[in-house]
Amino acid sequence: MPTELLQIRKLLQQKGVRKTRIREAMLALFLEKGYALSHADIEGLLPQNFDRVTIYRTLKSFEEQGLIHKVPDEKGIMRYALCPEGCSQAEHIDSHLHFFCRQCQRTYCLHIPLPPLPLMPTGFRAEGFEWNAHGICKNCSQVL
Ligand SMILES: [Zn+2]
Ligand SMILES: [Zn+2]
Ligand SMILES: [Zn+2]
Repeated sequence: MPTELLQIRKLLQQKGVRKTRIREAMLALFLEKGYALSHADIEGLLPQNFDRVTIYRTLKSFEEQGLIHKVPDEKGIMRYALCPEGCSQAEHIDSHLHFFCRQCQRTYCLHIPLPPLPLMPTGFRAEGFEWNAHGICKNCSQVL
């Protein structure tokens, strides 16, 4: 069995998700690409012809199981990215930085230490913060 497939099966098992062909194929895509994928990306990249509804349902169940999280880009296109290990069905812990590359238009999850949270003025209770960065990604800066 290839290492990649072992990794995929381990991930599904960790999150308590039953393995199916489409789940394995989609996870393989996320692992291989390393950036956030839209529904259209996934449809275009999957080797077999899985229909839109199945893809949609799989994304939804991955999200519920703590495998992936949503990352809307600046144009409002919804993308999905693999979650860090700490996410589960009970709770998502995805307060990491999202990097938007203006060259390739890709969105990356960057798991780097974040600065301390800003202090809210009296009366404001922040329930979440978003960390976004814009610029040129690693792949594009090699080409430039
Ligand atoms: Zn998550
Ligand atoms: Zn780029
Ligand atoms: Zn992310």
